[in-house]
Parts: sequence; structure tokens; C-alpha cells
Amino acid sequence: MDIYTDTHHEIQRTMRKIIEKDINPYVDEWEKARIFPAHEVFKKLGDAGLLGIQKPEKYGGMGLDYTYQVAAVEALGDINCAAIPMAIGVQTDMATPALARYGSEQLCEEFLRPAITGEKVACIGVSEPHAGSDVANIKTNARRDGDDYVINGGKMWITNSWQADYMVALCNTSDEHRHSNKSLIVIPMDAPGVERARKLEKMGNHASDTGQIFFDDVRVPQRNLIGQEGAGFIYQMQQFEEERLWAVVSTVSGLQACIDETIEYTRERHTFGKPILDNQVVHFRLAELQIEVELYRALMEKCVRQFSNGENITKLVSMLKIKSGRLMREVTDTCLQYWGGMGYMDETPISRRYRDGRLASIGGGADEVMLGVVCKMLGTLPVKKKN
Ligand SMILES: Cc1cc2nc3c(=O)[nH]c(=O)nc-3n(C[C@H](O)[C@H](O)[C@H](O)COP(=O)(O)OP(=O)(O)OC[C@H]3O[C@@H](n4cnc5c(N)ncnc54)[C@H](O)[C@@H]3O)c2cc1C
Repeated sequence: MDIYTDTHHEIQRTMRKIIEKDINPYVDEWEKARIFPAHEVFKKLGDAGLLGIQKPEKYGGMGLDYTYQVAAVEALGDINCAAIPMAIGVQTDMATPALARYGSEQLCEEFLRPAITGEKVACIGVSEPHAGSDVANIKTNARRDGDDYVINGGKMWITNSWQADYMVALCNTSDEHRHSNKSLIVIPMDAPGVERARKLEKMGNHASDTGQIFFDDVRVPQRNLIGQEGAGFIYQMQQFEEERLWAVVSTVSGLQACIDETIEYTRERHTFGKPILDNQVVHFRLAELQIEVELYRALMEKCVRQFSNGENITKLVSMLKIKSGRLMREVTDTCLQYWGGMGYMDETPISRRYRDGRLASIGGGADEVMLGVVCKMLGTLPVKKKN
């Protein structure tokens, strides 16, 4: 971004050093193992201050504005897979924003500080087997009992959950309206009654651990409530906005790398006596994709500036979230075609980008859900009749 200062560049240099030395040499091994050592990797990032760039200094963060986080997220694009950036994003921008904003001092000391140092791994539990897009329809409930909550239910498709130390879980805490009956509660993953039921096999993002988790009479102290009881749905909607912005920013460098790698490959590989790139259909198409990426980048930078200035980004970030998923599909699919048979092989980066990138139109708000938000803001949704 053109507003980057020396500090932004320093953050990127630090991130890239860790990626080069402690992450990329092991990515293929971790992809095969279907898991990466989150505690080990997060500790390295935490020691360098990279897990708390915008978190309060009071709890060990750097207290910087969002543009500095963008610099770090851009650098994450140098990682040779999407799984590990996603796991880091869960820790910094998906599981911990509400905790940092609304958590009590005691809760932040116990759970936010170690997430910033990388000593504890966090996960975010919203989705359930029957309710992903329709968040308000979740069934997991937390009932008050003495000084505790007793939690029953379960969560589905939870990133980091196989190794997480705690989950920030959205639970129903009353019979009120479905938008005012929810609360965010921190559940230690070693609490009795928490069962890591199933590690899920996926089409992509292989190095990331994704799990199904059950709660059977799990007892946690009521002080593990984040902010106010009943405000969880609103907190989660705010937190989703940061998740979506993270997703939008994290897409850019992957898209660019995909085009760059394809230009390089098609320049080297010859068919019918000339480089594949020399065919107009190929270089024109790659130019069209580059135009799309440039437009996307400009809009993303506008959204980042608005967010950093405290402006409402709901409409813009939802539009960008849709565009990021669609572009990811278009760019990876088109580029893979130009790699031919090699593109279909596991050993080439494009095949991993193609598999990993498919998640962008589904996770953290499917395209259609985002379109619903945009239409709501445009005032084009049909008006619901009151019964
Ligand atoms: C790899 C991975 C990691 C994930 N990590 C996490 C995590 O860490 N924490 C977490 O809580 N969740 C996580 N999720 C869950 C994810 O957020 C949900 O999968 C997503 O929100 C979609 O919900 P769903 O799968 O239930 O799809 P559904 O809600 O069943 O929807 C299925 C499809 O129907 C369409 N659709 C849905 N609603 C509408 C509508 N109103 N109008 C038109 N079409 C519609 C969309 O195309 C959608 O893709 C993860 C998922 C994956 C695959």
C-alpha cells in the first residue's frame, strides 16, 4: 500500500524471515501430515510480536492501527499454502477480536495475553452441523448453574481445534429472540466434557486441522463470558467483519503469485515451436486477470483505509468478500489450465492454490450470504411480512 512507512516494511521483513526459515521448508511435510505444529510456529510469531500487531499494549500487543496488520497479512502470502495463513488469521483476526474489545481484564490476562505471545492456540466456534450460514440458528446452549455455565451441544468445521487450548464459542444463554439470546464464552479445550470427536479430511488447506467438537455438560466459570450476556450475536457479527476483511486482504498476494508463476511457467514451456505464453489467447487472458487483481487491490486498499478511520465497512467488505472468492476461483482455474498436466499434479503450487482457494467462496460467509448483506444495504431485499 502507498501509505506504508518504515515500520510497515519492518513488520513485513520480520514476517518474511520467519516464513523463509521456520515455515516454508516444512510446508510440504505438514500438508502431508494434515496438521502443522501450531504451538511451535505461533511461539516464533509471538516472540516477534506478530500475533498482536493491533492488540492492546496492555496485554502484550503493539497497539498499532489496522494498516500494520495488513502489511503482516500481505507478507503471509509468501507461505507456500493457504492452510497456515488461515490458522494464523484465526488466532489474530477471528477468535480474539471480541475478547480484546469486550473481555474483562482477568479474561484477557488468562486468554488474550498467551494468544499474543503464541503460548496458547485459539479457535472460534460458531458453525454447527445444521447451522453455518444461518448463525442465529445454532443450538449449543450454556445454562447458568451456581457460579458456572454448563454447556451442551457441539461445533463443526472448527479450524485449529485439534490443537487449540481454548475456543471462543457462540452459545445460546436464554430463550430470548435469536439475536439477543446469544453469548460468547471462552471454553478451555481441556475442560471435562469437551470431546474432540472427529478430525475432518478436506479437499484443500491440508496443513490446517479442522475438527468437530462435542460439549457434554462442560462446566466453565461465568467469568469466562466475554462482555455482556445476550450480546454475543452482535459481537460475533462485528468479529465476522474483521474475519472478512482479513480474508479479503489475505487473497491479494496469492492471486498475484498465481499469475506471476503462470507467466514464468508458460514462458519456459514450449508447444508447437514457441512458448505457450506467446499465444495471444494466453497472454491476453493473463492480462485480463491482472486487470481484475489491480481493481480488487484498489478497492481493498479503500476498505482498509475506511476501517482504519473507524468508518462502517459492512457493504464494501461484503462486496469484496464475494469478489475475493470469485476471483480466486477464476484466477486459479484459468492459470491451472495453462499448466496443463503439470497443473493437475500435487507437486505444483498451482494445484494447491486451486484446491485451497475454493474455500474463499464458502468460509466465513458464503457468497450468497454476502450478497444478502449487500442487498440489505442497497434496500433491494423483499420486505418480510409480519405474522
Ligand atoms: C475449511 C473450513 C474451515 C472452517 N473454519 C471454521 C471455524 O474455524 N469456525 C467456524 O465457526 N466455522 C468454520 N467453518 C464453517 C464455515 O464458516 C461454514 O461452512 C460456512 O459459513 C457455510 O456454512 P455451511 O457450510 O453450513 O453452509 P450452508 O449454510 O448449509 O449453505 C450451503 C450453501 O447454500 C447456499 N446458501 C446458504 N444460504 C443461502 C441463502 N440465504 N441464499 C442463497 N444461497 C444460500 C450457499 O451457496 C452455501 O454455500 C469452516 C469451514 C470450512 C470448510
